[in-house]
Amino acid sequence: MEKIFIVGGGPAGLLLASKLSERGFKVTLFEEHKMIGYPEHCTGIVRTNFFELLGYKKLNSLILAKYMGGQIIEEPCNKKFELFISQVKAVMIDRPNYEKTLTEIALSNGAQILLGKRAQIINHDGKAVVKTGIERFNGDLVIGARGPRANPNLKVLHGVQAKIKFERPIEENHVTVVFSHKIPKFFGWIAPYEQGNYAKVGVATLSSSVRQSLLHILSLIKDKYSIQGYFGGPVVVGGIGKNALYANYLPVGDEAGHVKPLTGGGLDLAAVAALKIVEDLKSDNDNFVCYKTWWRSVKRSLLFSEIVGNIFFGLPFQLRTAWINKLIEKPYVKKVLEMGDFDDHSKVLLTLFLSQFKFFEL
Ligand SMILES: Cc1cc2nc3c(=O)[nH]c(=O)nc-3n(C[C@H](O)[C@H](O)[C@H](O)COP(=O)(O)OP(=O)(O)OC[C@H]3O[C@@H](n4cnc5c(N)ncnc54)[C@H](O)[C@@H]3O)c2cc1C
Repeated sequence: MEKIFIVGGGPAGLLLASKLSERGFKVTLFEEHKMIGYPEHCTGIVRTNFFELLGYKKLNSLILAKYMGGQIIEEPCNKKFELFISQVKAVMIDRPNYEKTLTEIALSNGAQILLGKRAQIINHDGKAVVKTGIERFNGDLVIGARGPRANPNLKVLHGVQAKIKFERPIEENHVTVVFSHKIPKFFGWIAPYEQGNYAKVGVATLSSSVRQSLLHILSLIKDKYSIQGYFGGPVVVGGIGKNALYANYLPVGDEAGHVKPLTGGGLDLAAVAALKIVEDLKSDNDNFVCYKTWWRSVKRSLLFSEIVGNIFFGLPFQLRTAWINKLIEKPYVKKVLEMGDFDDHSKVLLTLFLSQFKFFEL
């Protein structure tokens, strides 16, 4: 591979730029915004060992909060469930600084990062070509990392968050998840960080309800706070696996549907996909066997999660509360969550489902 072009400077594109340039590949990345990491649109919650997985353990200093459990608020029944486990299961990372650090690594390894450059990926005689204005760039490989808007097959909800500052710090070690008739199709969340001095309060839902849903979840917070700003973007919840993959074009991250439909989380899968692609390129594997094998198996589990999500979010509220209520009382739930990986929902769900039957009970 001589020349690699990456379109999109979000976490997926930047991780590839940093990893590929570290391996000596000639990389050029196009990002339409003038600043890396902004506009911010993500909560940044990932599995505990996220940076170890990337081989960037030194970035652990970018962890803003560690979570050992969660609180679920189920409305309109007004039920509150608490689930705490004895280990850290997820962390919040400083996403803008994560992206800036990846950019620095890529630049220091000779990658070209072109900011304020909106690029198109066009199909020219069966080959992907990058086009910015009148300029055309022919690469051996064109990676599409343009986020969810670049893939019309994806099912997306509207995500919006408020960053709030508390007058007095609150407890930081858990995330609150709110299921409510006022947040149709998905849920809301309150994720404290920086020793509980701040929180990201968000919802993902239908665009027609998003404003009211956010106001509703903010109204649930009893501690005094001030709003520091709002941000958001599309949250992918389905349509995964219907991405094009032709000749020298390879989509990654949200553009490829590398997202978990039950939470809309994409940082982890985008990172693993990027690492698989790097592995293929390192061993001159132009057919991306390593990446494709991984994606085939992951896609199956994501499709399973998508079906579970459709059933769960389609259930009448009373039925859903009754099910959560029943499940949460079982001692094995805690065990499953302790064993399970925060970022592998389908495995956790399947184990939970099977655990309900006597034969499989833990
Ligand atoms: C409200 C909200 C909360 C979220 N919370 C979490 C979370 O807690 N954990 C988690 O794992 N995930 C979360 N996500 C999802 C996560 O943000 C995405 O999965 C992740 O950002 C995907 O990264 P990406 O690089 O594929 O795409 P993006 O982050 O969308 O980046 C794409 C980049 O490409 C650029 N671009 C687009 N088109 C062009 C073009 N034509 N030319 C040049 N540049 C272009 C864009 O400007 C952008 O910088 C959340 C999403 C939202 C909206």
